[in-house]
Formats: sequence, structure tokens, C-alpha cells
Amino acid sequence: MRLFDTHCHLNMADAFPEPNEAIEASFAAGVTQLLVVGIDLPSSRRAVEIADRWEGVYASVGLHPTEAGSWGRPAARELVDLAKHPKVIAWGECGLDYHWMTAPAEVQRECLLEQLHLAADLELPAVLHCRDAHRDLLGLLQSLDAPPPVLLHCFSGDAADARRALALGCLLGFDGPLTYRRNAALRELVASLPRERVVLETDSPFLAPEPHRGKPNSPAWLPLINAKLAEVWGVDPEEAAEVTTANARRFFGLP
Ligand SMILES: [Zn+2]
Repeated sequence: MRLFDTHCHLNMADAFPEPNEAIEASFAAGVTQLLVVGIDLPSSRRAVEIADRWEGVYASVGLHPTEAGSWGRPAARELVDLAKHPKVIAWGECGLDYHWMTAPAEVQRECLLEQLHLAADLELPAVLHCRDAHRDLLGLLQSLDAPPPVLLHCFSGDAADARRALALGCLLGFDGPLTYRRNAALRELVASLPRERVVLETDSPFLAPEPHRGKPNSPAWLPLINAKLAEVWGVDPEEAAEVTTANARRFFGLP
């Protein structure tokens, strides 16, 4: 089995002071490809450093919507420089977060829009974070002439949002919550999606899957999420892994 963790934060030094251990554990568990996702300048730098050291480990660079207040030309310039590293395969995570609202909605939208333009210029797909803001985020994507390919990570919208996202060509990422007992509605939604639009992620160190819920998450636990997806699809885990890994590789432009 070869799984692709399309969203983890091994670059968060507090949670992963020694990311090499987590990477080795992931490889041993069949998670042979990982995307380490930046949320600001320091974490984007660290994502690139980690990806540079390991085959199968990639990086994305960008500014998370909760950091949108720090957006500006210097940050943009350094992120663009970082994005030219050969192991950087996506821009992000950027997006909209109306749950925490650490920056005004208007500032978040501007920050997202500029990053989508940068991603398109750099010919990188974009990894988007969206919390309680699907209407605005999907509307913004729809308004663009030439948006980059988009992955909505940790998808938390409803069925109507999913339909709209699919119509815009988005991929949807799913993680630990897929395994939570009370999330039957999320499993139903996943079952209704075209399989070629689904990818898996852990969002480590957040959102640990069952039976580890509440602990710091690790990419090595992606097989637990894959097993749940296989159950939802009614296929064996090897087949589910093959589909989502192929989807991820196609999206990120990996041969
Ligand atoms: Zn994230």
C-alpha cells in the first residue's frame, strides 16, 4: 500500500521537534508520500527544508487566513522565492476562516485572492483552508478567469458546497473526522462524491483519527483514515489507497 498524506504540519516545531522520526514511522506504515504545508513564512521555510532532505516528502508555501494580517509585499516576495524550490508542489495553505476571524473578512479575501494569482502565475495548484466561509470562498473562485487547480483541505462544507466545489473542478481532502462516530453525515457526503475527486490527509498534529482522537496526530495514522474511506466506498483498503494516491499525484503534477 502506498498512501499520500496531502496535508500535514511536520514543520510545526512544537509538535514535531524531530520530524525525521515521524517521517520514518510514516514510511514504515505505508505512507510514502507527504505534503508538508506552510501556514506562514517560518513554517513555509521549514517545510521546504524538510522536503529537501527526503524523497517522497514535498512542501507547500503560503499564508494561512488566520495570519492574513501579516500579508504584504515582503512576505509575498519571500514565499514566491521559496516556491521556486523543486520540492514545492503547491501553494498554501491559504483561504478563509470566518470561525476564528483573526483578520477581518475583507483582509482575508484580499490575501487569498493575491495568493491565488501568485499560484496561477507559478503554475502551482492551491491548497485551501475554509472554515465557515464556503459561500465567499467558492464565490471568489468562481469570479476568477484562470484560477489554479484547487484542493479544499479538511472539507467541512455541506452537500451543496460540495456540488459547487466539484463544478469548479476542486478536489476535496478528508481526514480524522471521517472516522469519528458522530460524523455519519460526513461519511454519507464522501460516499456521494466522484472517487477521482477525493484525497486523504491527516492534518497532523491536529484531528487524530479514531482510536487516537484527542492525541497529537501523526501521518503514520493515515491508514486508519484510509480504512474508513475503504469501508465507505465498499472496497478493500489497497484499492482505496490506489485511487486517492493517484488522485493526489495527478493534482500535484507528479509523474
Ligand atoms: Zn493545515
